[in-house]
Amino acid sequence: MGAEAIEVFAERKGQILVAGADEMATIACDKQSLSGAVSQRACVFCGARVVLYPITDALHLVHGPIGCAAYTWDIRGSLSSGPELHRLSFSTDLREKDVIFGGEPKLELSLRELIKKYQPRGAFVYSTCVVGVIGDDLEAVCKRVAKDAGIPVIPVMSEGFKGTKRAGYSAACTALSRLVGTAETTGISPLSINLLGDFNLAGEIWIIRKYYEAMGLQVVANITGDGRIDDIRKAHGAALNIVQCSGATMEIAKHMKETYGTPFLRASYFGIEDMAESLYAVARHFQDIDWQVMERARKLVAEELVGLVPELREIRKKLTGKTVAIYVGGAFKAFSLIKAFRHIGMKVVLVGSQTGTEEDYREIQQVCDPGTVIVDDTNPLELGGFLRENDVDILVGGVKERPLAHKLGIGFVDHNHERKLALEGFVGMRNFALEVLSTVDTPIWRFVPRRAGKTKSAEALPAPAAQEVLP
Ligand code: SF4
Repeated sequence: MGAEAIEVFAERKGQILVAGADEMATIACDKQSLSGAVSQRACVFCGARVVLYPITDALHLVHGPIGCAAYTWDIRGSLSSGPELHRLSFSTDLREKDVIFGGEPKLELSLRELIKKYQPRGAFVYSTCVVGVIGDDLEAVCKRVAKDAGIPVIPVMSEGFKGTKRAGYSAACTALSRLVGTAETTGISPLSINLLGDFNLAGEIWIIRKYYEAMGLQVVANITGDGRIDDIRKAHGAALNIVQCSGATMEIAKHMKETYGTPFLRASYFGIEDMAESLYAVARHFQDIDWQVMERARKLVAEELVGLVPELREIRKKLTGKTVAIYVGGAFKAFSLIKAFRHIGMKVVLVGSQTGTEEDYREIQQVCDPGTVIVDDTNPLELGGFLRENDVDILVGGVKERPLAHKLGIGFVDHNHERKLALEGFVGMRNFALEVLSTVDTPIWRFVPRRAGKTKSAEALPAPAAQEVLP
């Protein structure tokens, strides 16, 4: 099925490619969403908020109207092993009078009151659209409060209108760069790492940390899942940065390389091959200091795969030939998802992302099968068209894609930041395969009107047995 069969805005045609159709073709991406297209994307502020949100002992104050804070309240399923201040959504609740006369006094009052009450280890102050318009001086207010409170108070310049969600990632990395390098690093092992771009959804960073610790490595800072202000302040003492969500945190990794000489590696903890390769790549980095790191990595992978491979083989038998569409926020997830679906026998017919770069899409083109539709910054109209045309069995996406899938009578697998199921690591691959199987295999899809006539009509099918539908 080609992209031409779907209703697409003329201005968006360059943002859609078909893999294998033209090897030289490049996708148009990393640009403002088309007006009127009702993009699935979030705003700049939201981009910054999702990156910094998992820092659990920080005060997160949204300087703007209440809607911006409500929109991003508890936005990620980022778990904490300690403080949970991040789960509260504070706002200066700017009103008409503040917009006319300026919101700085209200911001300063709110900051001082909240710091006194909650005693955070640091504070982030997010700038929103209206603050960018009225020109409040966040820098000056934060500086004054930081001096009196004795903690870092950092402005996050994330006015919603000033770019794409990607610009929000950049604003978050700029804020992080002001935190890193502000604390002592004595006592940190030469076999040490920081974990970047993992947000501890459903406790995933704990799985990954355990793997690295079993290899004999010290994890200095989580940036940002289950993150702590004091750990991030000394993150420049680690020997290596491991970057998972490169879209969100690559900028801080590059900053640390330039400023402190900390090298970085890209990793993915999703799927068997990528998970194992991430551990091996880190082991290779340290093998000159300690050759046993590689031995431990090999042992760990072997132990994890013993039970998992036969289980996946059984699941694959049931899923072979089923089709899937993937639409995710950051493109890095898509690479691993394509490989993971191949592993369980499913065919990927569409891959898209909200914030992919030209390089990301080039990589996607290389890993997916010819004929796969690749789409940047899609909208419900297009996405719905692609899903219907391909008669996909499941859509993998986030909170904004879920209702679309369900309205079309398509199975949905949550791979976004509010999910409750750990999908990273070897245990995550098992969870993922079982989740896909239970979604594809549910009897409800027999009754979807769209499918009636393609196979048998819903009426002609026998009602599912009670044990099939009851929990
Ligand atoms: S920052 Fe702007 S675009 Fe984002 S939620 Fe607030 S008002 Fe909306």
